[in-house]
Amino acid sequence: MAQARLSIDLSALCANWHALRDMGRAEAGAVVKADAYGLGAPRVSQALAEAGARRFFVAIAEEGAELRRVLGPGPEISVFSGHMEGDAALIRAAELTPMINSIDQMLRHVEALPGHPFGIQLDTGMNRLGMEAAEWRALREIALAQGPSLVMSHLACADEPDHAMNAHQLRVFEEMTSGIEAPRSLAATGGTLLGAAYHFDVTRPGIGLYGGLPYVDARPVASLLLPVIQVRDVAPGESVGYGNAWVARTPSRVATLNAGYADGIHRIMGPRAALWAGETRCRVLGRISMDSLAVDVTALDHDPEVMELLGRHQSVDTLAGWAGSIGYEILTSLGARYARVYTR
Ligand SMILES: *Cc1c(COP(=O)(O)O)cnc(C)c1O
Repeated sequence: MAQARLSIDLSALCANWHALRDMGRAEAGAVVKADAYGLGAPRVSQALAEAGARRFFVAIAEEGAELRRVLGPGPEISVFSGHMEGDAALIRAAELTPMINSIDQMLRHVEALPGHPFGIQLDTGMNRLGMEAAEWRALREIALAQGPSLVMSHLACADEPDHAMNAHQLRVFEEMTSGIEAPRSLAATGGTLLGAAYHFDVTRPGIGLYGGLPYVDARPVASLLLPVIQVRDVAPGESVGYGNAWVARTPSRVATLNAGYADGIHRIMGPRAALWAGETRCRVLGRISMDSLAVDVTALDHDPEVMELLGRHQSVDTLAGWAGSIGYEILTSLGARYARVYTR
């Protein structure tokens, strides 16, 4: 089989959720937007629901509607983009909870779906989503009278614990929500790690569930083995791949593996990337192609059948380092061509 296997360890996923939950007394939700960061929202969400998660968060109503089919009635599914034009039918049918971002969205929501649950998103300084202080002042009493399911905001710098923005946003959030009865939420993974002062009533971990930084102690969740299609000897002076970007200086043995930049192994990683055969690190040679890449297996005493890109030796954050990126982007780029296999 030439299809690569992306294994997703559901026990590790749930252990990460439990560990983040147990850092405080707040209820832990689960952020499963972007197909659960590329790992497959249906299976991931089912596992988290079985582990006890009752609030799920997605980015858009369409994701929420799919998730509802998987989870069935009961768990709350909140939509960060709020209530957009054209969303009303989906929000009603799938019983979604839009996180209202503006007065316009609030008007749209109460007009289209009077009495339907909603939450409120406040901007505390990130200037991305949510109502600013003046808007919130105008709407606050009317919105609170209808009992929002959640009042939330988002931290811009939570992955840098010493950043002054964290305490600033915490103070602004406390001011904007003082005295309200609705449950409050400020922390994603980074905010959860900042300590209980940031937890309020509900936390919203995403990346930490999937084994990525800033949750240093996370258990790895994704592992990826790439099948070797072909192995050949390359003589000194011969080149490998597009642009002749790598030329052998010594007699070499080169494996061609079945995954490339169309599968989320970005071309920019090439010069720093490596894969593992057992305990041997083997570097990537030359340019990464759309469907394949070349690896130096000269040091091995056998031709491997598969090689490890993600696993015991290197994490999504290792790959992020090669690409000048973050674990989030590596995970959400993992291609649709991989067979996602779930283990417990
Ligand atoms: C993506 C997102 C989260 C989850 O963030 P992580 O850093 O992955 O834990 C939480 N809240 C909001 C508003 C988000 O957009």
